[in-house]
Amino acid sequence: MASDNSSNTSLLNVENVSVYYGEALALKDVNMEIPKNQITALIGPSGCGKSTLIRCFNRLNDLIESFSLEGRLSYKGKNLYDPKVDAVKVRRQIGMVFQKPNPFPKSIYENIAYGARINKYSGDMDELVENSLKQAALWGEVKDKLRENGLSLSGGQKQRLCIARAVALKPDVILMDEPCSSLDPVSTEQVEDLIHELKGKYTVIIVTHNMQQAARVADLTAFFNAREQESGSRFGYLVEYDDTDKIFDNPEEEATQKYVSGRFG
Ligand code: ADP
Repeated sequence: MASDNSSNTSLLNVENVSVYYGEALALKDVNMEIPKNQITALIGPSGCGKSTLIRCFNRLNDLIESFSLEGRLSYKGKNLYDPKVDAVKVRRQIGMVFQKPNPFPKSIYENIAYGARINKYSGDMDELVENSLKQAALWGEVKDKLRENGLSLSGGQKQRLCIARAVALKPDVILMDEPCSSLDPVSTEQVEDLIHELKGKYTVIIVTHNMQQAARVADLTAFFNAREQESGSRFGYLVEYDDTDKIFDNPEEEATQKYVSGRFG
């Protein structure tokens, strides 16, 4: 475990968390402390539970009927799955950017303003839109066409618009599930630069298939793998979680070494 990852700086704590979809175990016994204002990457082969875990952080799996969680997942020391916790409020504090950019079919301006208005934002809306687009490194490209439809933007711009939309709600945490997987290399680089800029202000958790991306953007990296049960079904588990440099240069586990050097499977 990361040496500087002490509980007084951790924002999200995952303690003995297992996830099931119906009877099927998807993720087994995960323990992690996610530090505040750092970037944490979740890597590992397909099907090892990375998306499942990231969706647990903002209660997005609640929308799946068969989903159940064991163990404790806490945010600022409070159990996120306490029945008294309002999942909608959680999603305001812990925002999500998805794999495929999904702007609303509304103007660029409205993509930012809509959520703020629903949340009864009472400040200067023009200022919020401008600041959010600036934070997402998109302002320069869209400031003269704020009334155009968000769907008219390029893929990379759409993804930065979704990041601006997340930022506008002033979250603590921004979850990103493979945010660059549908983008070209130039747009990927722009989004990676943006993730760097968000660091220090937000806690970012990013799922990525791309190991180089984890190495480039993340302070901490968690490597997940999948294992077969006697029944033949597979479940994911956390192999190793540490500073990104350690995971890539000198991991403790052989499986991590194999994965990060591309000698996996
Ligand atoms: P990864 O993101 O690492 O590719 P996932 O979290 O998507 O892994 O999947 C982990 C396991 O959970 C897989 O076996 C997958 O089939 C299963 N799973 C994911 N989502 C659902 C769902 N909505 N219903 C049932 N099983 C699911």
